[in-house]
Amino acid sequence: MNLLLLLPEDLAAPDRAILSGRRLAHVREVHRAQVGDELAVGLLGGAMGRGRVLRLDAGALELALVLDEAPPPKLPLSLVIALPRPKVLNRVVAAAASLGAGRIVLLNAWKVEKAYWSSPRLQPDSLRQQLLLGLEQARDTVLPELRLARLFRPFVEDELPELLAGGTGLLAHPGPGETVPEVLAAPLTLAIGPEGGWIEAEVRSLIKAGLRPLSLGPRILRTETALAALVGKFF
Ligand code: SAH
Repeated sequence: MNLLLLLPEDLAAPDRAILSGRRLAHVREVHRAQVGDELAVGLLGGAMGRGRVLRLDAGALELALVLDEAPPPKLPLSLVIALPRPKVLNRVVAAAASLGAGRIVLLNAWKVEKAYWSSPRLQPDSLRQQLLLGLEQARDTVLPELRLARLFRPFVEDELPELLAGGTGLLAHPGPGETVPEVLAAPLTLAIGPEGGWIEAEVRSLIKAGLRPLSLGPRILRTETALAALVGKFF
């Protein structure tokens, strides 16, 4: 945790926060902070700054806040990610938030197992928790927009073209496809397939909707590795 993310309900006054639970435990056990220390803090959806520790014991962490910095700007990036299996989902969602994506869409695909859609990790609270962990990791306070697209066709045919309007859309697909284009118009939309890959019919539909196929080379990367490699190429 590189930023202590404060929620509105943590504020006892505009310049005073009182925390318990996971964040208290983290500050005691990992940061090993002392009274008087300053911690990097940010208000969810708002400014960042510093919190001076006024009290720290088993019951609570109390901070005096100075919030005078803007969070880093979001990348002009939408990620369309075929729903990964639950264990991977948490990591991918947190990583997407850390990298600064403005929008994340979790999309169904032929090779996404149906059971993944009923995982408790897809519950709003669980997804939000992963987004918050990603923001704390990256030192950001602004949640990306996250949505679930359980039906491939309506999303790809009706919504994706709008998402792409004025920008560039790339379809990550391993193999001998196109390599990185030289000039890109922002915003960028990147589509990343499931563990088993996109099937040919999906590739055709995604290209028809306006995505251009892009290969990172002959090595097959895991979703989260492909995600980091792709974002690193363009931003
Ligand atoms: N067996 C699958 C691999 C899927 S890997 C296949 O052959 O397609 C999961 C996703 O990560 C892929 O669908 C793609 O979006 C992305 N990815 C992995 N390696 C890649 C590469 N070398 N180039 C582009 N995208 C890649």
